[in-house]
This record gives sequence, C-alpha cells and structure tokens, in this order.
Amino acid sequence: MEKIVSLCKRRGFVFPNSEIYGGMNALYDYGPLGALLRKNIFDLWWRKMVTEREDVFGIDGRIILHPKVWEASGHVSGFADALVEDKKTHKRYAADKLIEEQLNLSVKSNDIEAISGLIKGGKLKSPEGNELTMPKNFNLLVPAYLGTVEGEKTQVYLKGESCQNIYVNFKQVFESMHKPLPFGIAQVGRAFRNEITSSGQFLFRQKEFDQMDVQYFCRPEDSSRFYEDWKTIRWNWYLNDLGLSEKRLKWRQHADEERAFYAKDAWDITYDFEGMGFKELEGLHDRGDYDLSQHQKFSGEDLSYFDPETKRKFIPFVVESSAGFDRNFLAILFEAYREDGERVYLKLKPYLAPYQAAVFPLLANKPQLVEKAREVYEVLKKQSGLNIVWDERGNIGKRYYSQDEIGTPFCVTIDFETLENNTVTVRDRDTAKQERVGLGDLKLYLIDKIIL
Ligand code: ATP
Repeated sequence: MEKIVSLCKRRGFVFPNSEIYGGMNALYDYGPLGALLRKNIFDLWWRKMVTEREDVFGIDGRIILHPKVWEASGHVSGFADALVEDKKTHKRYAADKLIEEQLNLSVKSNDIEAISGLIKGGKLKSPEGNELTMPKNFNLLVPAYLGTVEGEKTQVYLKGESCQNIYVNFKQVFESMHKPLPFGIAQVGRAFRNEITSSGQFLFRQKEFDQMDVQYFCRPEDSSRFYEDWKTIRWNWYLNDLGLSEKRLKWRQHADEERAFYAKDAWDITYDFEGMGFKELEGLHDRGDYDLSQHQKFSGEDLSYFDPETKRKFIPFVVESSAGFDRNFLAILFEAYREDGERVYLKLKPYLAPYQAAVFPLLANKPQLVEKAREVYEVLKKQSGLNIVWDERGNIGKRYYSQDEIGTPFCVTIDFETLENNTVTVRDRDTAKQERVGLGDLKLYLIDKIIL
C-alpha cells in the first residue's frame, strides 16, 4: 500500500485532500493522471453497462434528495455503525470491522446486542489488546442545511448511497422511455458517509466516494434468474474488463445475521488487497420489492407496474449491483504495480492507461527531430481519439522509465531514420521491445493495440 500511495502522490494520481491546510481525514482528490484513469474507468463502465446493452438506461441524479427519501430507505433510523472505543488510547473503531478482523465473524454493523456480548465475554479487544467500551450506534448520514433564511433552513442529507435517485426516478424513466420490464437503470454518483476510519486505508474507506450502480427491475418470479445473470456480468467486469487476476478475486456471501431483512440473497465481490486481505469491491443484492414499496409508502405515489402480458399489477423486484469506484481504482493499481529491478511500471490495460501513447524526439536539442516529432504528436492527438502525451525531458532512457511508471503502454520515438524513411520506433511498456512502424500505419497500429 505504501508504494502505491507514494507513486500516486509523486506522479499526480491521488493527493490528500486540502493538503496545504494539513489535510482532511479519509478524503482524497484525484490529480491530473488520476482524473484521466478515472474517466477511462467510468467511460468503460458506462459503455459496458449502458451503451452496449439495450435494457439499461443511464441517469445522472443530484446529491441532494428530498429528506423523506432517507426515511423511506431506512437510513435515518437504521444506517448506523456501532462504535467502540479503546479505554486506554481512546481510539475509535467500527465494531463490526474489528470483529471481522479478529474473530473472522460477520455481524450486522449496528447489532449492539451481539457486539456487547462479545465485549462482555472478553472475546473482543482493541487492536492494541486493551479493553473496549460498550458499543454505541451512530448514524453515518452526513446532514446539510438548505435555505436562505437563518432559522428556516431545511435539513437535508448528502446522499448516503448513490442509488436512491434510481428508485425515486423509476416511474419517470419507465414512463419516458416506454420500456416494459425487465430493464435496468444505471448511475455513477457520489456518496457521503461519516465513516469510522483507521489509518492506512487510503482510497478504500473515505467519507466521500463514488459508486457505480445498476438497479435491474423485473418481475418477482424472474429475480433469481436475473440475479445470477448480474453476478456473472459483474464478475466478468473485474476479470476481463479491468483485468484483475482470478486468484485475487473471491465471492463472499452475506451470512443470514448480516443480510438486510428484506434481501433474499447478497454476495460481495472481494479483491485481495495485499496487506489488507480480501475486501469488498462491490455488493450484489437480490432486494425484492423493498425499495419501491418503501418509496410508494412514504411518497403516496403508485409505483406499481401493470404487466401487459400477464395482466398483473405488482411492485417490481430489484437486483442490485453497487460497485465502489474508488475501490475499483485502487484494485487496478494494486494489480498493475510491477517492479523489475530499477524499473517500476504499471501494467495497466492499454485502454485504461492515463496516457495511451507518448511521443518524443530522440534528441530534444535537434530541431529537425523536434519539428517532425511535434507533427506526429499533433496528428495523433487530434485524429486518433487516444490520450497522447508529449515528452522531451531528460534522455530517452529516463523518458521510458518515467512513462512506464505511469503505465503508458507505448512510446513513439522520432529519430534520424524517421527523417529518411518516415518510420518511427514504437516501444512496448511490458516487454520493453521496440518495433519499427511506418508513419502512415501508426494511428491504426496504436488503435488496434489499445482500444478494447
Ligand atoms: P463496507 O462494509 O466496506 O463499509 P458497505 O457494504 O457498507 O461497505 P455498500 O453500502 O454496499 O458498502 O456500498 C457499495 C460499495 O460502495 C461497496 O462495495 C464499496 O466498494 C463502496 N464503498 C462503501 N463505503 C465506502 C467508503 N467509505 N469509501 C469508499 N468506498 C466505499
């Protein structure tokens, strides 16, 4: 983890939030290269979950929703974690996470009775081995206040989970898109939680983060089948699209005590973050009709669906895929990080890399090489649709190393031979091998190797 954190900062992927003011706990900003990688991940997710499918619509909802949404969803009364405190050091911990780490047991994060039992029985101690206080539940929702008149402001909440816009807009999407069931609604969005955090978790557990959700609406009798389908679709996202290795991915089923009372089944896809063990990347839940029923009850709007085929009226069932964007980002870096002697490189899938090709003149002090290289760079940048970067600092060896470290899959070098026969060298990040390619073929050569 330390190596990734250091590379992220040094090379402009991720910075501690508000660092010049001393930083903010569990908040990070994405820097120039992080923003590029981030966009590539979001675009790929959107393409795979929305564009390439006929049955999923994308929406883009606000962070602020009507406060009643969070009553209906159960977050106001139940979105709590039990907090315990080390009696000596006064450090605070999320009890369920301690229990998972120390005792390898799953408990609901707000199950005061079970947690108290373990503390009273002497089974649960702080990581330093000290006594813990009895657990106290505290709500994870982050409140905000809207309004211009002091004293008459409305208390709202920043989204505790991104997907609520989807349920709240279900009827509008259905009516405007005229699509019978089954169909899904997808959204990338922010979520805010007053998390109890411990150090060293970097992007993994933050107070503000992004989620990539698909909620798939279907007939009650079809939900188990679609649940299995979505488990496969999402597993393949990690394995094939992000290129995470199979041995570092694992399914984890939620135990009965841990699962929400309305959920029929719940599985997490976990990734082996070296040093932290297998941790959740995404949750897949067979949620029944809980979400729409709750919003129907609290809003008074009829959210049922009339099935033209069976002539039945019912509340659609929901199959959910809720992926943590920041954890996806971190897993991609863990997977890609390689050391080869002095050389550090990120073996990113070429289509995810922040820069997909770098262009440089062999020697930065030879005007005829620089001029030709600029020409190649400008054409590729404008016509290839790829992210192309110009680099003329230091010598060529240093440039290769520098591009390797940020995962640039190809380096294009313009040398004296280019001036004679219009060919360039293309160096491959992973093999460090070079190939001579004609300038006329360069664009298609790169596109062919980079685009998925
Ligand atoms: P955890 O048990 O780790 O707190 P969760 O089960 O509460 O996670 P969900 O509410 O199911 O998480 O959210 C869906 C996804 O959002 C998670 O799989 C995770 O990838 C991501 N996520 C949740 N909380 C955070 C956080 N504090 N920081 C970054 N990502 C998060």
